[in-house]
Amino acid sequence: MAIGLYIHVPFCVKKCLYCDFTSYPYNPSDAQAYLKAIRREMHLYRQLLTSDERELSSLFIGGGTPTCLAVGELKDMLEEVRRVFKLLPGSEITVETNPGAIDRDGFSELFGAGVNRLSIGVQSFQDDLLKVLGRIHDAGAAAEAVQLARAAGFKNINLDFIFGIPGQTAGDWLDTLRRGVDLFPEHIAVYGLQLEEGTPLEQAVARGKRRACPEDLELSMYRTAISLLTGCGYEHYEISNFARPGGRSSHNLKYWLNHPYLGLGAGAHSSFRGERFSNETSLERYLEKAFRGEYPVKDRELISVQTAMSESMFLGLRLIQGVNLDLFYRRFGMRVENVYGKQIARLAEQGLIEVGGGHLRLSERGLPVANRVFQEFV
Ligand code: SF4
Repeated sequence: MAIGLYIHVPFCVKKCLYCDFTSYPYNPSDAQAYLKAIRREMHLYRQLLTSDERELSSLFIGGGTPTCLAVGELKDMLEEVRRVFKLLPGSEITVETNPGAIDRDGFSELFGAGVNRLSIGVQSFQDDLLKVLGRIHDAGAAAEAVQLARAAGFKNINLDFIFGIPGQTAGDWLDTLRRGVDLFPEHIAVYGLQLEEGTPLEQAVARGKRRACPEDLELSMYRTAISLLTGCGYEHYEISNFARPGGRSSHNLKYWLNHPYLGLGAGAHSSFRGERFSNETSLERYLEKAFRGEYPVKDRELISVQTAMSESMFLGLRLIQGVNLDLFYRRFGMRVENVYGKQIARLAEQGLIEVGGGHLRLSERGLPVANRVFQEFV
């Protein structure tokens, strides 16, 4: 099976106030060292992997803000991927970007280099809420980015949005969704804001300077997203993801279907050859290991059958179609109900999951409390 490759670019112009991802302020010398390290990591895999294992059906260059790098550097990275791996015809090649982080020529160059999907972090169309999040762009820049990408030829664009922002009203969220849909993206992802411990926004809430979004409002925002987006022709195919026909993200589907993938770069995760492993998140340690010619891996764990079954459950339940019961049986030789009978009975009694069409899935009531459901299978 061809795998998915993720490459993490951990640089941003400035850290957003809610961010706890692996990201560092951009500076040219770190970026150049990082690109060399990525090349070294790729070559370690060239020695390790068989020719079949180097077949890719998707590539996702994410961050951070990958377009902090010069477009020429991104193109070189892509060339190196093509030299080391075998990108199959028709592969989905995504680059993540943020409004204002790339200009018209940059979009054209990326498109010309074979990038066929963009994921743009719009987050909100309310300038005051973008400030609460500490984003560096305004709403106008977000709309302009989509227009520039279209003019460059991109026919597959995802827009990310956040709900549950301190101070956000139901009307703000509705307005953001409507303005998002008006740009006709092929794909939309909506995420509830996580107030991660230690981030400036979490601290502001803890000190009473900002008021967290009430839970019932956040829940109703999620429901609004589902009804508005499905009403506008988007298929709700994963808890947070919506696509126009043909617009599902094939790279992200690999994660949810528990298929193998490799991650390169600081903090990147992999699931490959029956192991799950993640790279050093510290830029310094990542560079050190890569330049010593070592795999820059920090944690590694063998995926036991029990873990693989558990992952197939909570990842598969993220998909609206749910876990394919027949596939589960064919993979593990055991029926889902024989392994998780008690959990399924308990959750079904609460109306949080349901079985139908050969799948076990979250019910409408279970969707907003998905994390509670997943806990049962961990
Ligand atoms: S753009 Fe994304 S990765 Fe960068 S600081 Fe903001 S939230 Fe974090």
